[in-house]
Formats: sequence, structure tokens, C-alpha cells
Amino acid sequence: MKIYEHYSLKALNTFGIEAQARYFCSLRTLGGLKAVMLWRREHPELPVLFLGGGSNMLFIADFPGMVVQVRLAERKVIADDQNYVYVRAGAGENWHDFVRWTIEQGYAGLENLSLIPGTVGAAPMQNIGAYGVELKDHFYELDALDWRTAELRKFSLDDCAFAYRDSHFKSVEPGRWLIGAVTFRLPKHPIWKTDYAGVSEYLADKTLDARTISDAIIAIRQSKLPDPAVIGNAGSFFKNPLVTADEFTAIKAKFPNCPAWPQDQLVKLSAGWLIDQCGWKGKRVGDAGTYDQHALVLVNHGQATGAEIWQFAQAIIASVQAKFGVILEAEPNVIGATT
Ligand SMILES: Cc1cc2nc3c(=O)[nH]c(=O)nc-3n(C[C@H](O)[C@H](O)[C@H](O)COP(=O)(O)OP(=O)(O)OC[C@H]3O[C@@H](n4cnc5c(N)ncnc54)[C@H](O)[C@@H]3O)c2cc1C
Repeated sequence: MKIYEHYSLKALNTFGIEAQARYFCSLRTLGGLKAVMLWRREHPELPVLFLGGGSNMLFIADFPGMVVQVRLAERKVIADDQNYVYVRAGAGENWHDFVRWTIEQGYAGLENLSLIPGTVGAAPMQNIGAYGVELKDHFYELDALDWRTAELRKFSLDDCAFAYRDSHFKSVEPGRWLIGAVTFRLPKHPIWKTDYAGVSEYLADKTLDARTISDAIIAIRQSKLPDPAVIGNAGSFFKNPLVTADEFTAIKAKFPNCPAWPQDQLVKLSAGWLIDQCGWKGKRVGDAGTYDQHALVLVNHGQATGAEIWQFAQAIIASVQAKFGVILEAEPNVIGATT
């Protein structure tokens, strides 16, 4: 396996940000790990970053260590019982291609997660979710490698501590585990989730099956979200914030139309709505901006640097905090941030 030096990551992140990896390699088989481990022994002081499709990353500086692009390929039905089929996918598989492949095999469960960019291996990192379904709803287990000891370990659903856009891998032990493969448990008797705003209307006169729902989700997403191949972005840039019931009462008193959903003991607000109310939709500073149809999506109009996008994001955070007293949290992994 070849190790490159001073490797441009511009084509490998969906923001289209120019940043260089001091070292870079593309991991297609687990055997390739030997070369990376050898490199590690020679450069113990340098950091390592795993990269999938780069659709949830913002590089605001060059990366001083090794970027390992994970390209492990595999798609396999590994077991089957009365109620479920168990399907295993390599971390480097394209997520959407894998979802469509499961549908072509006649399996359901992942259709609402169609067209989310990126790879299978990154999907557990933030427990990807869309249109009322999260990865955790159909997750069985994953295989990971401890980067420090080369120990292989299986993680069950409980081990992964999945939460809203969060997991053990994202917030408890970031950077420690290389996810190699993920196994899904797909229901043989699916209960369709189509009650999400926009989806039910789209499917009103249709006979439901996984392919029809997937097609609808694809069409809805294409009508709402910018295509990274056309304009650089990382999808939603901020998580929907959670506030206490008391905080929400105070916000509601001033902003009666503020959309909200109960979430455990807390209240979830719409980050997009909060940002929109501060007048950010379609705003632009240089080549950094918000998408004109969706204030939650930050875009690179062409030549923005990661630092400029990050600065723009900080201005949004400050204005939402000033108006609503709510602090927004970035969803993508910001590489090189000091704040
Ligand atoms: C247009 C658009 C729409 C989007 N819509 C959604 C959406 O609806 N829902 C949603 O949840 N997300 C959405 N996203 C965000 C993104 O697609 C997901 O987070 C996706 O899972 C990221 O996959 P990736 O392979 O590109 O990961 P990367 O951006 O390459 O990496 C993300 C994180 O995972 C780590 N990582 C990557 N691969 C591995 C591995 N094999 N082992 C260990 N760590 C790894 C990285 O180090 C990094 O911390 C959207 C993004 C875009 C651009």
C-alpha cells in the first residue's frame, strides 16, 4: 500500500476545501494496515485521521499526520431467521449504493436513509438519521480495530451508545476505533415510517414498499438539499438544539411560532428555523454562505477556505445566541479547530 506525502484533500471532502494531509493512504484491505502500523511506529507523535467520503468534515487547516481513507469493500447476507435478515457491509462501501443494494435484494429498513452521502463505516459515527429513522433502528453490531493496540473488537448496539447525531465513537473515544464493517438487522415484516412531514404527502396515493419509499426520499432530498457535486457543503451544519422545558417556555413567550418537539425530558428546537429568524438564509460573506433554500446548510460558493466557513458559522452561532439564548453546536467534524 502506497503512502503519499503532502496529499491534497480537496477532492475528498464535500465542502471542496483545499487542505493537505502530511501523509495519506487508501486502505482497501485489512492487510494494508501493516504498512500504516509501521508508519505509526516511525511517527508516534503524529495524529491519524480516518476518512470516509468526507461529507461530514470541515478542514480548517492542513492535517499534520496520516489521513487513512477507508475503502474496505464487502456486501454479504450473513444470517437469516424468521423475522430478520442480517446483512454485513464493509466500511468503505458507499452508503447510498449499499441501501439501494439491500432494496434490490428485497430487504427493507434502510429506505428512509437513502441518498445520505458518505460511507457505511462513517454512518455509526453520528448515528445518521433522516425522515424519522436512525441507523440505530436497524443496527446489529460492528467490527472495529483499536488503533492503539491493533485489537479487533465487536461492538453491540448498547456498546455504541447511539444518540441523536452521536455515538461512543464520536464523543467518548474519538479517533480510537477504525470501523471495518457494520452488520444490519433488517426486518422481514417492516413497518413503514412515512408519517414525516413531506413524505406522507408525497406517498399519499402510492402502494408502499421499500423501493417506492426510497424513490420518494431521493426525490424529496434532491428538491431540498444542494448537491455537493455542484456546490460544496456538508449537509446540515448545526445539530437541532435541546433545551429544558423552562427554557422553552421563555422562548415560546417571545416567539410563539417557534417549532419544537419533545425529546425525552427536553425540548428539541429547529436549528434551521432559529437561523432563518436571524436573517441568515441565502446570506454570503465572500464565498462562504448559507444555502438559499435551507439556512441550516452552509455552502462553499467556490473558493472559500475552511477557516472562512468556520468564521461564518461562528457569526451564526453568536447571532442565534443573542436572539434566543440558545447555543448551536456544529454537526460536522471540524479538523484543526482551536475553539
Ligand atoms: C448533502 C448532504 C446531506 C447530508 N444529509 C445527512 C442526513 O440526512 N443525515 C445525517 O445523519 N447526515 C447527513 N449528512 C452528513 C454525512 O453524509 C454523514 O455524516 C455521513 O455518515 C458521513 O460519511 P462520510 O463517509 O462522508 O464520513 P467522513 O466525513 O469521511 O467522516 C466523518 C467522521 O467519521 C470518521 N470516520 C469515517 N470513516 C470511519 C471509519 N471507517 N472508522 C472510524 N471512523 C471513521 C471520520 O474520522 C470523521 O470523524 C449529509 C451530508 C451532505 C453533504
